Amino acid sequence: MSIQMNIGDHVSPHPGWVTVLPKHRPQVNWARSRAKVIARDMASANRYFSGLPNGRSLTSLLNDRSIWINYDPSATEFGANSVAHPNEIAIGPSAFRIGRWTVLATLIHELAHVDGAPGGASTQAEEALLHCGLGRWSEFRTGRDDPHTPYDPDISG
Ligand SMILES: [Zn+2]
Repeated sequence: MSIQMNIGDHVSPHPGWVTVLPKHRPQVNWARSRAKVIARDMASANRYFSGLPNGRSLTSLLNDRSIWINYDPSATEFGANSVAHPNEIAIGPSAFRIGRWTVLATLIHELAHVDGAPGGASTQAEEALLHCGLGRWSEFRTGRDDPHTPYDPDISG
């Protein structure tokens, strides 16, 4: 059982979210596999996710086949989680352009929203990256982004 990538076998109820392009699928597959390794090997990841409003571990989310990863061709941000359809995630062109680590970071960030992390001024979703080994605590403490890690202390929502 696993979260699923929309490869044409799913119609997202979120307007504008479509099938992941064939050229982007290897990055999504890599990110999904890597996220499972993180959930298995880094206790801090499941611990952090279990403390989010919906209380689900990262492992539980990654094993949930009702959660779908779609593509949003017009996204201006790296990704999004549908408010109206909480099990729908989208990843946008800019994340794919930067590369697989950004796709992974986007997946983790959006799964934190699926787990109830709020948007707006909250940084709870982005902070999930720190607990998944995708950022440095010094970035969190100083608020200065290290461009070599996917975590960005300037990202809220
Ligand atoms: Zn967000």
